[in-house]
Amino acid sequence: TARLLDGRAVGATVRAGLAETIAAYTENGHRPPGLAVVQVGGDPASSVYVANKRKACAKLGIESFSHDLKDTVSQAELDALVDELNEDPRIDGILVQLPLPEHLSADSIINRIDPDKDVDGFHPTNIGRLAIRQPGLRPCTPFGVMRLLEETGRDLHGMEAVVVGASNIVGRPMALELLLAGATVTVCHRFTEDLAAHVRRADLVVAAAGKPGLVRGEWIKGGAIVIDVGIHRRDDGTLHGDVDFDAAAERAGFITPVPGGVGPMTIAMLMHNTVTSWRRRLGLD
Ligand code: NAD
Repeated sequence: TARLLDGRAVGATVRAGLAETIAAYTENGHRPPGLAVVQVGGDPASSVYVANKRKACAKLGIESFSHDLKDTVSQAELDALVDELNEDPRIDGILVQLPLPEHLSADSIINRIDPDKDVDGFHPTNIGRLAIRQPGLRPCTPFGVMRLLEETGRDLHGMEAVVVGASNIVGRPMALELLLAGATVTVCHRFTEDLAAHVRRADLVVAAAGKPGLVRGEWIKGGAIVIDVGIHRRDDGTLHGDVDFDAAAERAGFITPVPGGVGPMTIAMLMHNTVTSWRRRLGLD
C-alpha cells in the first residue's frame, strides 16, 4: 500500500523554517513581514479560511492587517483599498479572499494588486513568469504540491504527469510547475474524452477537478504518485477528495490524504510567499 504524503507535517516544517528566518531578521531590528487579508461579506467557509490564515501569520511572526468589508462594498471602494495596500510600506502581501460577491470582479481585483505583493500568485504577471521559466511569486496550491513531491525523493524529469482540472488557480499553474520541473504533462478537463486512459498511464496524477471520487482507484498505475487537491464536505461533515482514496492507496506508491495533504501546504506556501516578498522588499536576499 501507498506511503502517505503528510501535508500537516511538511507544512509544519516549512512554517518552522519561516519562523526562524523571521526571528533572525526581526531580532536585528527589521520590521516583521506584513500580510493584508481582505474579505468581502461573511461567507462562512471564507471566514474559516481567513481565520486560519490570520492564526498561521500570528504564530510565525507575520503581522496581519485585516480588512473585513460589507458585501455591499462597491468595486471602486475595493479598488481604492487595493491601491492603498499596494502603496503601504508595512505590507508585503495582499490577499483577497475569493469568491467575491457577484457584483465584484475578481479578475479586475487580481490585476490591480502589485504583482510583487501578489502572494496568491494569481496575477497575470506571476502566471506569465512561471510560464516562461522565470518564476516570481508562485500560486500557493501548485507550489505546495511541488514541495510535497520533494518528499517522495523521485526525479520528476521525464515523468508522465497527468493533471485533472485546468482552472486558473490550480490546474493550469500546476501544469506549468510540472513542466518547469521536467515532467511530460497532460492536462485533462471537462472536455477530455477518456479520462481513465490518461490516468492509467500516469506516474503522477494531480486531481483538481472538484468532483468527489472522480478518479477511480483501479485507474491508478502501480507505484504512481497520487496528489488529491479536491476538497468536499459531505452531509455528515467528513471531508473527501477527488480520488477514491481507499482503492487508490492500494495501488499507489505515494498518496495525499484529504484532509491533511495539500490543504495545509497551500497555507504554508502563502506564508512562504509573504516571507519571500518581505525579504525582497527589504533587500535581505
Ligand atoms: P474549478 O471548478 O475552477 O475547476 C475545475 C476544473 O476541473 C475545470 O478545469 C474543469 O474543466 C475540470 N473538470 C470538471 N469536471 C471534470 C471531469 N469530469 N473530468 C475532468 N476534468 C473535469 O475548481 P478549482 O478552483 O481548480 O478547485 C478544484 C478543487 O480543488 C475543488 O475541490 C477545490 O475545493 C479544491 N481546492 C483545494 C485547495 C487546497 O488547498 N487543497 C485549493 C484550491 C482548490
